[in-house]
Amino acid sequence: MARPYRISIVSLGCPKNLVDAEVMCGTLASAGFQLTNDREAADLLLVNTCSFIADARDEAHEEIREALRWKRLGRGRRRVAVAGCLPQREPGQTATAYPEVDLFLSLDDVPRAARLVRELFQTGLADRNVPAGSLPTYLYDHTAPRLTLTPSSYAYLKIAEGCDHRCAYCSIPSIRGHQRSRTIASLLEECRQLLGQGARELNLIGQDSSRYGLDLAEPASLAALVREIDRLEGDFWVRVLYTHPRYVDDALIDTLAASRHVVPYLDIPLQHISDGVLKAMRRGLGSRETRALMARLRERWPGVAVRTTFLVGFPGETESDFNELLDYVTEYRFERLGVFAFSAEPGTPAAALTEGVVPAEEAQARRDAIMARQQEIATAMNQALVGRTLRVLVDGSERPGRYLGRTSADAPEIDNVVHLRGPRGALEGNFAEVRIDKASAYDLTGTAV
Ligand code: SF4
Repeated sequence: MARPYRISIVSLGCPKNLVDAEVMCGTLASAGFQLTNDREAADLLLVNTCSFIADARDEAHEEIREALRWKRLGRGRRRVAVAGCLPQREPGQTATAYPEVDLFLSLDDVPRAARLVRELFQTGLADRNVPAGSLPTYLYDHTAPRLTLTPSSYAYLKIAEGCDHRCAYCSIPSIRGHQRSRTIASLLEECRQLLGQGARELNLIGQDSSRYGLDLAEPASLAALVREIDRLEGDFWVRVLYTHPRYVDDALIDTLAASRHVVPYLDIPLQHISDGVLKAMRRGLGSRETRALMARLRERWPGVAVRTTFLVGFPGETESDFNELLDYVTEYRFERLGVFAFSAEPGTPAAALTEGVVPAEEAQARRDAIMARQQEIATAMNQALVGRTLRVLVDGSERPGRYLGRTSADAPEIDNVVHLRGPRGALEGNFAEVRIDKASAYDLTGTAV
């Protein structure tokens, strides 16, 4: 075949999984493969899966089936590869379920993607590289070829991978392995690379960003990393995602609040507020400490937009536990909030709990009640922005003169967006001052001034 093989990729799940896909794309491109968004033109479809909860697995299975339908239409010319957390977590089951899949990639195969795909095309892979299921240890660094798949305005910076917490409901440590952090030097080099490519926002991610560096031979910290990033010149935003309340202390809050690049935003999943439920979830801190920390966060970092995530319907959660949480959501008024209804994850301690199991419909009803309360809060907060002029990072355009952007209180893909009018062609990938004309619960509309 004269022309290079063409590869199309679909990446599911969280930004940490997306960065793996970006490293695989960089590796494949630097090995001479061509990446394409046009599936019809592709020779191989790479499905990068997520599997941390049942819904995510369902989505992954549907995407794999879709890819295999695409393969069958190729009359033997097309190949399908499956990567990410599903083959990592369930290698045998996934391989048995999909005999037509040509190649599997574990999380440790990310840097080997090009070699394995070349082998597949040249000689075929009899064993299909079915993963062994051992805990992964791989973590890319600034020397890894990486092709970002996000809009050019922002990029994710994976500062660490894996997790050493053992929250009772969570399967991530058994999929992604132990915490392993990048060095500050490597991260600074990658910051320069990403800023050099035009990114105006760097989103710091890990399974628990607030434990960054504690596992390094020369221990570091998130605060130390932020201070180093602060030395970098340029007009760009830094956003901290995925912190754990147990590791957010006053020193970190003060460093973030004083930083010249870090935006006044903190993602800090609390999961619950009831003492009994937090203990049963093995979150490592109780209600009193959580409330005290969250109060200090507002005091020490005025104007910070707080994003959190709650999990309702955990076994043993009573009506009064739930009401305590609903009251706390009303009282604290989070700027950004997500809620999950508990689902028992195979292999987690919570899946073995039989006492006080909350029926799925009741868990869903509790989730909906919190989201309804949050919608009232979000609407009032957004309405208060009408008439104000905000700094917005423009991620893309909806049509000529119409753009999509985000304020400093909005992380990519999970928070609000700003629909804005502005001069044609100039704004994409840049900051704009936007007068807010209209607001709904989760969107703003405005005009670039
Ligand atoms: S901190 Fe807890 S919830 Fe988050 S990835 Fe680790 S074990 Fe899972």
